[in-house]
Amino acid sequence: MRLLIMGPPGAGKGTQAITLARRIRGAHISTGDIFRTHMRQQTSRGKSARHYIDAGAYVPDEVTNAVIKDRLAKDDLRGAFVLDGYPRTVSQAHRLDSMLDQLGAQIDGVIALAVDPAELIGRLLKRADTTHRTDDTEEVIRHRLDLYASKTAPLLQVYRDRGLLHEVDGVGPVEEVTARIDNSLATPNSGREASRLCK
Ligand code: ADP
Repeated sequence: MRLLIMGPPGAGKGTQAITLARRIRGAHISTGDIFRTHMRQQTSRGKSARHYIDAGAYVPDEVTNAVIKDRLAKDDLRGAFVLDGYPRTVSQAHRLDSMLDQLGAQIDGVIALAVDPAELIGRLLKRADTTHRTDDTEEVIRHRLDLYASKTAPLLQVYRDRGLLHEVDGVGPVEEVTARIDNSLATPNSGREASRLCK
């Protein structure tokens, strides 16, 4: 099963993606985590990405698409993964379609976590105290939220039109949100491969 998880910064994508990946026995692929590893290791991709990430901007597609292409080529995916933070633009979504086409694969479902902006800012500022992410300052957070609204939110309609979208309320205890995701994926007709999760 191949899933995407989407939602604005602070919606809890990473937390839910880890649980979901375990549940479908697949890999968790987070572009944010991959970039942060590259930055720590000071690779050339890390150096190209840092400037954008610190400013809360999107890393250019040529870098981001290359990172995903490399990751999808690794053979630990066993046909199951949760992509977290990619695609983030309509053009990345098209690129993902062609990468999956080449692998003879397709997306089975897209989870979109919904959380209102005031709650998101509160969560991210709280997280800033513990994670020390350079992009968790209030100004950068606001920019990331704006960018999500203008560049990434339009993608939801693309996946809705394909009958793949599962919109889930992301407010509440982590386990409750997890249960909502599982229920949504298990609902008949709401995802082509969803019934596998119920077993
Ligand atoms: P969040 O969803 O909280 O913003 P992520 O860890 O997913 O956090 O991403 C952190 C940063 O990494 C983003 O603000 C952006 O700069 C960069 N990034 C991650 N994924 C992508 C992507 N698909 N396209 C462009 N930039 C990305």
